[in-house]
Amino acid sequence: MKLDILTLFPEMFTNVFESSMLKKAKDKGAYDYDLIDFRTYTENKHNKVDDYPYGGGAGMVLTPQPIFDAVADLKAKQQSQPRVILLCPQGEPYTQAKAHELAEENHLIMICGHYEGYDERIRTELATDEISIGDYVLTGGELGAMVVADSVIRLLPDALGNEESAAQDSFSKPWLEHPHYTRPQDFRGHQVPDVLLSGNHQKIDDWRQYQSIKRTYERRPDLIDESTLSDKERQLLNQIKAEQGVASDNGV
Ligand code: SAM
Repeated sequence: MKLDILTLFPEMFTNVFESSMLKKAKDKGAYDYDLIDFRTYTENKHNKVDDYPYGGGAGMVLTPQPIFDAVADLKAKQQSQPRVILLCPQGEPYTQAKAHELAEENHLIMICGHYEGYDERIRTELATDEISIGDYVLTGGELGAMVVADSVIRLLPDALGNEESAAQDSFSKPWLEHPHYTRPQDFRGHQVPDVLLSGNHQKIDDWRQYQSIKRTYERRPDLIDESTLSDKERQLLNQIKAEQGVASDNGV
């Protein structure tokens, strides 16, 4: 995958892409990236990329010309028709499902806003996707682009070196992930659950599934779509509801 990130602050990304798993994935060839300072595309003689909003009001607005020209140039260089992602708080809330969708692409362009926002024509004429990483306002789109890049890159073939780990993650299934324990078995009087030491893989899988469903029910019931559950999942969910004194659908 090729990732092109349009930003006025390319230096913010260096440590993120050059450390840990993202560096390993890049070194293995799972993806490559370029950081494009779109100021280098401006035709403004003072090198400006923003201007006052028509109609007045606070803040400066990113002008369309540098961003349109940068995107056209990147498309021509890659000879592709990539998804053009605008990071913005008004966008579609970002999810793991969206990360999977984007991980299927060969080329992504991400545009990081700043100041008061963008000229609306960048939104209407250039972007194919608008993504928000949460219901809060950041100073710029850079942190959002890092979040999207990280979550997409770890899904690319060979990026993690452990396919199973990405498949087990929270949100990859409708359930949050089960708890993990490692050594020591007794940490200051707090024990690892016996089942995990039993060596019985069926029992361990059953315990993990129960814990996943319990966690999701307690923390994120909004993720559970009861119409899509398997018989076993429904039975476990009903058992958990009964344990917590809640009447389940079938009256258990
Ligand atoms: N005035 C804009 C509004 O109310 O929608 C907010 C502009 S914000 C200060 C500047 C830039 O930060 C945005 O253009 C966007 O690129 C980025 N940004 C801010 N919050 C974000 C969020 N929750 N998700 C993704 N990008 C965000």
